[in-house]
Amino acid sequence: MNKLQWIRDEIAGLRQQGLYNNIRTIDSAQGAWLIVDGKRVLNFCSNNYLGLANDARLREAAQKAIDQYGVGPAAVRTIAGTLSLHAKLESRLAEFKGAAATISFQSGFASNLATISALMSKEDVILSDELNHASIIDGCRLSGARVVRYAHNNPQALEDQIKATNANAPYRRALVITDGVFSMDGDIAPLPQIVEVVERHNLLLMVDDAHGEGVLGRGGRGIVDHFGMHGRVDIEIGTLSKAFGVVGGYVAAHTEIVEWLRQRGRPFLFSSAVTAADAAACLAAVDILETSTERVDKLWNNTRYFKAEMKRLGFDTGRSETPITPVMLGEAELAQQYSRRLFEQSVFAMAIGFPTVPRGKARIRVMISAAHEQADLDRGLEAFGKVGKELGVI
Ligand SMILES: *Cc1c(COP(=O)(O)O)cnc(C)c1O
Repeated sequence: MNKLQWIRDEIAGLRQQGLYNNIRTIDSAQGAWLIVDGKRVLNFCSNNYLGLANDARLREAAQKAIDQYGVGPAAVRTIAGTLSLHAKLESRLAEFKGAAATISFQSGFASNLATISALMSKEDVILSDELNHASIIDGCRLSGARVVRYAHNNPQALEDQIKATNANAPYRRALVITDGVFSMDGDIAPLPQIVEVVERHNLLLMVDDAHGEGVLGRGGRGIVDHFGMHGRVDIEIGTLSKAFGVVGGYVAAHTEIVEWLRQRGRPFLFSSAVTAADAAACLAAVDILETSTERVDKLWNNTRYFKAEMKRLGFDTGRSETPITPVMLGEAELAQQYSRRLFEQSVFAMAIGFPTVPRGKARIRVMISAAHEQADLDRGLEAFGKVGKELGVI
């Protein structure tokens, strides 16, 4: 038998179940409208919350950095030295987040892998929200620690698990991890209640703020700022590839933890950093966020408007409290068909199915951005309504 036959069978199975990822090709800069597979379409897919991905100030900063530093980092930072731009970005991010220190990585994904595996090992236990992001799940696996999942956004369930876990098999150290904003549903972790539980048991707490940054808190300072929990969350994971509009990730934490990650964070030690252009563009993004809340305010105005209108049309937008707007459809095939029909109407909104969300909970996930104008949102609403009626969803 052909040794690749099993892969062909698996892929055929994915296609049959409507779970095959069809990746579309983009031929324009990020913004409210894109050229996708040669067609001009309204962009409802990207995490470009604040419209910074094609901002003139970020582009200019990146171009200047290329002129000064060239294009490649040439080696990992511990071996070839670190660019002053990376160091500057880390101190600016710490100031912005109100954290003691930060360390930057190549991505949010790498930040989770690095941090969890550097802090935890097989004598330890990790308590992880059952809906945490894949990069948290992989970081937990990589650490070798015992992983105990607790019921989604449920501090009481967390506390019960802490007690039960310690009674069954006492652990050396324990780390509680939650997403700040859950990327598929758009709901927010009840951080004050989680902090209370964690403080009662004297555990470490880590929050992944990938979808909270640039969105929640004063001027987009994130979930810790949103709840006024400064100094009470040990580790915040951030991404520079969503609201910041560029690419990369970082960890904001106590100085001891950041120092430890410089010694033991494997993606830091064994993989090159983002380029000078990326770091310079990120610095420009921090400048913009620190000087004005205009984009964050626009993001929220757009969000409130779009969600209210979707509800009025009769759509179920789930439990979202943020710009992430899931349009709940149920079966994966229906969600894929819906997405294709929207595309015919010049609206780019992707279907999301298993394993990213549970079976039977397929959806279209609409990402609202400050890049959208009201006319764009109206155009999207019109298409959603039209397709919804055709397919019997509303
Ligand atoms: C997007 C996301 C990441 C990964 O961020 P990248 O910078 O794209 O690697 C990590 N955690 C959460 C919760 C995310 O939503």
